[in-house]
Amino acid sequence: MEKISGSLWSVRMRASRKGKKRRLSGGKSGEEKAIHVSGAEGLYASCEIPRIVDGYLKRAINHPRGLPDTITLTIEKVNEEPLAIPLLPVSTIVCQSPHEARRVICSLLSEAGLSREVIERGIRIAAGNEVMRGASLIRSVSGIRAEPDTLRGVRVSRLGIERSSERRLSRGLARGGINTSTVKEAVVLASKVASCGGVVAELCISDDPHYTTGYVASAGLGYVRVTKIKDPGSMSGGRIFFVEEKADVSPIIDYLEKIPVIATLPPRDRVSR
Ligand code: AMP
Repeated sequence: MEKISGSLWSVRMRASRKGKKRRLSGGKSGEEKAIHVSGAEGLYASCEIPRIVDGYLKRAINHPRGLPDTITLTIEKVNEEPLAIPLLPVSTIVCQSPHEARRVICSLLSEAGLSREVIERGIRIAAGNEVMRGASLIRSVSGIRAEPDTLRGVRVSRLGIERSSERRLSRGLARGGINTSTVKEAVVLASKVASCGGVVAELCISDDPHYTTGYVASAGLGYVRVTKIKDPGSMSGGRIFFVEEKADVSPIIDYLEKIPVIATLPPRDRVSR
């Protein structure tokens, strides 16, 4: 395995814009709620930091969700040795409409063991207008939301990909014409989520109005892209991590947010099918 040499750094970007002040009773105006514009995170070698920061800033300023008024960059040295986790295999299901895409999502998530009611609740939250910075955690049987902060959600961080695996992933994705940072970053994120004990499956609908391909992922299903999951121009989107009904969510959140991981392709594994 070709490691990223030297110590690793966690680089995170968050871009937001102040929303309208909410009206309180008595005509007073209340707090402004920050609207999520974009975010990005990864683990990198120190020599990569300037290039990554430049890319993240360009992304924050040029995002199709509009201009932010605050951009926060956090760059921290990571002292722990990252855990090696398997990179999920990538596949695509081509759909002709959001209606068909929802049927596909339902069948994939029921294959992962979820009931129709819980899946529909997940889709409602992921496709809703309340865009969160992180993901919502939903219990697999009751459908109860389990994240401590339902406005922010749980933000997966401290994740990277091993160098030779990244080259192989890029080659595989290029064969399908999808070798973009959007897809690569999402595969790494989904691989970290799928490697987390207590997580059953993930559903993602992008909040980017130009990006209409979503995905369903789990250790068993792999990373399954589902096209035409929403109509072009829609600013809604979200991520759902379905968790085991009785799971204690604190260690799950701690792993997803804080434990450093590096995703690696097993030798001769498929990247794309
Ligand atoms: P994106 O795929 O970047 O358009 O993100 C879609 C939605 O996923 C966002 O609106 C967030 O709610 C959520 N999200 C994005 N990045 C993360 C992350 N690192 N961890 C958890 N949730 C995320």
